[in-house]
Amino acid sequence: DQMREAHRALETPLFSGLPGDIEVSFEFFPPKTEKMGETLWQSVATLAPLGPRFVSVTYGAGGSTRERTHEQVKRIQNEAGIPAAAHLTCVAATREEVDQVARHYWEEGIRHIVALRGDAPDGNSTYAPHPGGYENSVDLIAGLRKVADFEISVAAYPETHPDSADRHADLANLKAKFDAGATRAITQFFFEPECFFEFRDVARKAGIEGEIVPGIMPVMSFAAVQRMSGLCGTAIPHWMSGLFDGLDERPEARQLVSATIAAELCRRLYAGGVRQFHFYTLNRAELSYAICHMLGLRPKGAMP
Ligand code: FAD
Repeated sequence: DQMREAHRALETPLFSGLPGDIEVSFEFFPPKTEKMGETLWQSVATLAPLGPRFVSVTYGAGGSTRERTHEQVKRIQNEAGIPAAAHLTCVAATREEVDQVARHYWEEGIRHIVALRGDAPDGNSTYAPHPGGYENSVDLIAGLRKVADFEISVAAYPETHPDSADRHADLANLKAKFDAGATRAITQFFFEPECFFEFRDVARKAGIEGEIVPGIMPVMSFAAVQRMSGLCGTAIPHWMSGLFDGLDERPEARQLVSATIAAELCRRLYAGGVRQFHFYTLNRAELSYAICHMLGLRPKGAMP
C-alpha cells in the first residue's frame, strides 16, 4: 500500500507546495583543525534556524576523537541551543572507560547517545571486541541503560551490514537494539528510495516498531562516496555514476547535480510517507539546507 501511495504521490508535480511538516537532524564530524572548526561552526549556524530536532557528532575510528567529539557536542548544545547527540562506539575501550565517557556526558546535560559498535581501528581487519569491552551495539545499549536514562539512536542497514550473515540476521540484530532500549534507528546512506521502503516494510514485518529514519548523504565528492559505499555495502546506481561523469573539474555544477539527486530522493521518500530525515552534512551546510528548503522547511529564527 505504501508503495502504491508513493507512486501516486510521484505523479504530482515536483515539490508542489510541500507543507514543511518534516523533522530533520544533522550529523557532523569533529574537526581536525581550527579552520575546519570554523567551517563546522558556520554550518551549525546556517542549519540551526531550521530547528533540527537534534544534531549529532560522530566518534572517530578507534575512539580517536573522544575529546573532540565531547567538545563539539557540548558546544553545539550549550551555544547553539540544539539538543546534541554524541556518537559512541565500543572500539578500543573497556566497558568501564565507555561508561565513564557516558557518565561524563550525562553530568554535562547530554541526554542522547548514538550507540554503535564501530569498526576495527585499522579499517581493514575484521572487527574483534576489545578485551573487557562491549561486544557490539546491543551490549553497549544495555550498558548505557545502566549508566543513565539516555535517549539512544542506533544504526540500521537497508542494504544489510557487510558483517551480517544475511538480511534476516541483520534485522534480528536491529530488533535486539530496539529491545535493548534504542528509541530510533538511523540508516546507512542509500540512493534508491525503493531500497528504504522495502527495508522499512521487512523491518515492520520482523516486528520492529520503532522509528526508522533515512540517512541522507548529499554527494560532496563522488570519489569519496564510491569509496565509502564500497566499505559499507551501499550500491551506487548506474544512473548516478553517469550523472557525475565529466564533472570532476566542475565543482559548482557537481553541487547542483548533488542537490538535485538528494532532493529527488527526499521528495520520493516524502511521497512514501517519510517525515523524518537525517542528513550526513560532512560539516557543510549548503546542500542540506537547500534540500530541507525544497522539502518545505523554513528558518524559524537565528541561532541564539
Ligand atoms: P552492530 O549492530 O553491533 O553489529 C554490526 C553487524 O554485526 C550486524 O550486521 C550484526 O548482525 C552483526 N553482529 C553484531 N553482533 C553479533 C553477534 N553477537 N553475532 C553475530 N553477528 C553479530 N562508526 C564510527 O566509528 N563512528 C561513528 O560515529 C559512526 N556513526 C555511524 C552513524 C550511523 C547512522 C551509521 C549507520 C553508522 C555509523 N558508524 C560509525 C559505522 C558503524 O560503526 C559501522 O557500520 C559498524 O561496522 C557497525 O556498527 P553497528 O553499531 O551497526 O554494529
